[in-house]
Amino acid sequence: MVAELSTQLVAQQQHAVKLLTSAKRICILTGAGISAESGIPTFRDKQTGLWENYRAEDLASPIAFDRDPKMVWSWYQWRRQLVQDKAPNPAHLALAQWQQSIKQSHQHITIITQNVDDLHEQAGAQVTHLHGHLWRNRCHQCDKPYKIEGINKENQYANDELITCPHCAGYIRPDIVWFGEALPVEAWQIAEQAAASCEVFMSIGTSSLVYPAAGLAKLAKQNGAKLIEINPNPTPNTVVDITLAAKAGEVLPILLKDFIKHS
Ligand code: NAD
Ligand code: ZN
Repeated sequence: MVAELSTQLVAQQQHAVKLLTSAKRICILTGAGISAESGIPTFRDKQTGLWENYRAEDLASPIAFDRDPKMVWSWYQWRRQLVQDKAPNPAHLALAQWQQSIKQSHQHITIITQNVDDLHEQAGAQVTHLHGHLWRNRCHQCDKPYKIEGINKENQYANDELITCPHCAGYIRPDIVWFGEALPVEAWQIAEQAAASCEVFMSIGTSSLVYPAAGLAKLAKQNGAKLIEINPNPTPNTVVDITLAAKAGEVLPILLKDFIKHS
């Protein structure tokens, strides 16, 4: 069942469908907001429980890990417990269905995400991760990937003891790009190329504050793309052409339905 949009949204939504049906290349950037309706808190939400006095931005950094690796590792194990049973919501499902449905057509959709969860993949989408993967680990010192073996899945994240690398004795950390760290080169190249060559760039559930990802919309605009933003709250993104001020899980299924009807 697809929800109804408020009347003031309908005109923008129809304009968006027009742009999307006529575009050959569409680039989509998603952020924490697209997973909010799956029950995964964004970085703008206040933290709860044990972590209510901490800001996520102060924990997701190499400086925090160097200062107190145990605290940062514990926080990620807690986040993993929080995320492990979460499922894709109608926004993830609509994007995956849309990407699949145009496979035989002249259109192409590149999905880039800042998220570290795997809900796009669970929904069946093909996605490029700019900020790494919550479920992977690597050594903070020598960078080698590390797989936690022999622990059953339910208890896997309950243990917050630090793990050391078998190669160099450095501490194991999540394979996530923290604030102040460089993005993976290949993922960034895919993102830049998709943004620079698309006719429509759609930004979904991102605060547009975290660079360099936030610069992709400007790059697309400089190269002539139209910009659509889906976010219930205003963002500092000044180059947007169409704002759909609604939840991604409400607006995307409607957009997809109209897109299929008009293409
Ligand atoms: P953010 O937390 O800075 O901003 C989230 C944005 O989503 C806000 O602008 C908010 O208004 C919007 N939003 C909230 N609910 C929404 C909904 N239902 N539909 C559409 N939009 C909604 O997130 P960010 O911009 O992605 O950047 C912060 C960093 O946080 C990223 O590096 C990301 O890796 C990390 N992060 C990831 C996850 C995840 O993987 N699920 C969760 C939290 C943070
Ligand atoms: Zn190592």
